[in-house]
Amino acid sequence: MTTVLVTGGAGFLGSHLCERLLGAGHRVLCLDNLSTGSRANIDGLKGDFEFIEHDLINPIKLDAEQVYHLACPASPVHYQSNPVRTVKTNVLGTMNMLGLARRTGARILLASTSEVYGDPKVTPQREDYLGNVNQLGPRACYDEGKRIAETLMVEYRREHKIDTRIARIFNTYGPRMAFDDGRVVSNFVLNALRGEPLQLYGGGKQSRSFCYVDDMVTGLIALMEYQGALCHEPCNLGNPHELSIRELAETIIRLTGSKSPIADGPAQQDDPARRCPDIGRAKTELGFAASTDLETGLKATIEDFRQRIRH
Ligand code: UDP
Repeated sequence: MTTVLVTGGAGFLGSHLCERLLGAGHRVLCLDNLSTGSRANIDGLKGDFEFIEHDLINPIKLDAEQVYHLACPASPVHYQSNPVRTVKTNVLGTMNMLGLARRTGARILLASTSEVYGDPKVTPQREDYLGNVNQLGPRACYDEGKRIAETLMVEYRREHKIDTRIARIFNTYGPRMAFDDGRVVSNFVLNALRGEPLQLYGGGKQSRSFCYVDDMVTGLIALMEYQGALCHEPCNLGNPHELSIRELAETIIRLTGSKSPIADGPAQQDDPARRCPDIGRAKTELGFAASTDLETGLKATIEDFRQRIRH
């Protein structure tokens, strides 16, 4: 049994990760300030589980053998609502968790993001692509926040020999996404189920590649456990099936049987035109495969949203 600390453990992805780790018999410490996470996400978790309400921009003394550092709002509407706090979470929060890893000797995995590639000029994005990020734009608090978090991971490893892993997480969806998450899958599913218009921001030609949450959790754990030559290098995790936002809207309308119209919505500044992971490294090094196809994952997500709407 390993004691595993999950920051952001009451969030969408974090709670699925906690659940899987508990199922594998680990002791899980879940740290969250509940800014976007919720108690409802972790209420049903069974096993050796402890929840600590804490904002990790303040230091905390805990013991763990592994740290999954996920804490940070990940949806543009949330991370842009308090941008300075987003930067603080990524800088101070990551430093605090690296300090904890240094003191305890824990291995630490950073949940970084495809957003480090900004509005990419090359596609699919490989880990060695340095990105096209506007440091002055509305996404910068998150993009640049995660980029400096990666830098901190690298420098703490060089200076203090911390055992680090960097996961670059691409768009992830699934059951338990918050209704007010504001991201495209949760918006569209909710719109479709409520008979409201699905709004395509800026035309809907832009693309994304959506990974089902169970596959993402499998990838994160595989990267944490991986000890190969590239273990400290960043590793993309995602599903390389790329589609336009319009296609996503049409698929969700079809799968829900909704009569919702598709409407035009406002274009978002610095909205990446394309995003698609090259998962060659994850495949070769971790044996990772994003095995859940979009329709299967969306059906499970729609069913979960239907049930929660009823209650
Ligand atoms: N989007 C949209 N309608 C919505 C929400 C999002 O057209 O109701 C678009 C958004 O402009 C972006 C894409 O969907 O191009 C994915 O947005 P999301 O916020 O899910 O995540 P991102 O990948 O941009 O961080």
